[in-house]
Amino acid sequence: MATTKHKVAGLLAALMVAIAPMASADPVAAPAGWVAQQAPGYYRFRLGDFKVTVLSDGTASRDLPTIMSKPAEVRKAFGASHQALPVELSINCYLIDTGAHRILVDTGAGELFGTAGGQLVANMRAAGYQPEDIDTVLLTHIHGDHSGRLSIGGQRVFPNAVVHVDQRDSNYWLSPAAEARAPANRKTTFRQSHQTVDPYVDAGKLQAFDGATELLPGVRSLPLPGHTPGLSGYLVESRGERLLLWGDIVHAAEVQFRDPTVSVEYDVAPAEAIASRRKILRDAARQGYLVGSAHISFPGLGHVKAERVGYSWVPAPYSVSLK
Ligand SMILES: [Zn+2]
Repeated sequence: MATTKHKVAGLLAALMVAIAPMASADPVAAPAGWVAQQAPGYYRFRLGDFKVTVLSDGTASRDLPTIMSKPAEVRKAFGASHQALPVELSINCYLIDTGAHRILVDTGAGELFGTAGGQLVANMRAAGYQPEDIDTVLLTHIHGDHSGRLSIGGQRVFPNAVVHVDQRDSNYWLSPAAEARAPANRKTTFRQSHQTVDPYVDAGKLQAFDGATELLPGVRSLPLPGHTPGLSGYLVESRGERLLLWGDIVHAAEVQFRDPTVSVEYDVAPAEAIASRRKILRDAARQGYLVGSAHISFPGLGHVKAERVGYSWVPAPYSVSLK
């Protein structure tokens, strides 16, 4: 049986062990198991009979006032929102499993935008899908951060998929004549377009459509030109529930809902891009469908609300209810 002296010594020893980490540890040291990366970036929800998985491709850091049309207004909007610049823009892709089809809307940046992007396939696998499972790729437009992962090293990443894009985009970005006429800062995009899209053209797997088209049951395209000549939203509908995937209508939620006339230097036709943004914001606010936005913070899901001046973005509540 332990003596009182032994008991006190034991208690003291236990106390020393208990306070030792507090006394010696770096107050901001990471707990065991902390690694410098996020959990796999996917988010699921049901849209009627369809299963939707938002897949993160990661982010791209952008100093928005240097690439947007009203830099003082952009800077002010970010300041008022307590947001630092440059900002990491999410790159969101959307996988729609209709039961009959597995449709991927946009493919992320692949190897084109550095290591902060290019996470699509890792996140797709984490979500339980393989690139071979995808039978349909719908591109909102041809741009490195949307069509970049179509091919790596000249090989198709989605070997069983047919790629659909509005013909105005494939006619522009794959045209040697348009490339010859384009300003110098757009040449890289032409090169990247060939690098990633050509393997599907060569395999007979690129199908260009003409404007508003029903592509699959419950999935139709909606022309929203300007950012690129053929920028296309995709309206997905099942049992009366609707989701619009609108691509690059908004790059900065902090400023472009309130003022849709703020454009971005990547716009091929800025005035047309502004007109498309105004039109679709008005429609989304009136009709109230869910929106999936390529560059609003992951998972980029929300609704558009009309305000006294312009609009606002209402992020969709996080949900664990998958029915
Ligand atoms: Zn984009």
